[in-house]
Amino acid sequence: MQVIESVKDMQTFSASAKKRGTVIGLVPTMGYLHAGHGSLMVEGRKLSQLLVASIFVNPTQFGIGEDFESYPRNLDGDLAIAANAGVDVVFAPKAAEIYPDGFQSYVNTEKITLPLCGGSRPGHFRGVTTVVAKLFNMVLPDIALFGKKDFQQLAVIRRMTMDLNFPVKIIGMPIVREADGLAMSSRNAYLSTSERQDALCLKSCIDQARAAYLSGECSRTALQTAAQWLIAAVSSAKIDYIEFCDSRTLETVETVDENTLMALAVRVGKTRLIDNTVFGENQ
Ligand code: AMP
Repeated sequence: MQVIESVKDMQTFSASAKKRGTVIGLVPTMGYLHAGHGSLMVEGRKLSQLLVASIFVNPTQFGIGEDFESYPRNLDGDLAIAANAGVDVVFAPKAAEIYPDGFQSYVNTEKITLPLCGGSRPGHFRGVTTVVAKLFNMVLPDIALFGKKDFQQLAVIRRMTMDLNFPVKIIGMPIVREADGLAMSSRNAYLSTSERQDALCLKSCIDQARAAYLSGECSRTALQTAAQWLIAAVSSAKIDYIEFCDSRTLETVETVDENTLMALAVRVGKTRLIDNTVFGENQ
């Protein structure tokens, strides 16, 4: 496995692979890799001939007062996980090269970035779309893999890729969970022992709502209220949002059906966690 740091080296490497007709796969990450990232890499390995994983903690997707500085980092551990998953190239650029002095061009996807995490993290998706567009131009992938754990991010990237005619096939991958149901996340490392237990309330909300839906409850208000009660019983947890929306447009729905996305963001202590489910899917 090769590690490339410079943008020029990455572009040259990818351009010459492309000239030979190589199918390039990209898994963009912010590092501190876990089995969720690993699942994207394993699938990317199957679907491409040259698999690139990027590791870049992207400053522009963090708001003021968010955890950019403290975001967990462990490049050596990441390289071991990436190598194990069959990655050919880890692209780990420096922020100064991605955003040099004078940088002033951003990609902005509009309506679909407004609800959910876009509402509570203004500017977040502008940072995401900008860096992913830049990564597409640097790595020149034919396919790129993203996790459904960040459901809105996947929807935004699909929209941006279509709108800007990037010749990249976007692949969405299932949420990978710990044995007890907590969605894997680099941010889980922030949780204390008791918060780690309390963090199970996100999956409990999903399980409770799915069970109610399957036994015939279709009212958004009823499902939302039940979820709010469940979180209210966990003293370290504070709701950022619990929403029910159309999984394609992310517009709020009043009546839940198989296409409905239940998405939630909950702060456990100081750690903001997200999780989601689509009622008609198996997860
Ligand atoms: P991050 O490093 O958190 O920016 O995540 C990089 C990619 O891995 C994104 O496409 C995430 O959606 C995906 N990912 C993160 N956690 C999980 C998980 N638990 N299951 C599946 N994909 C995940």
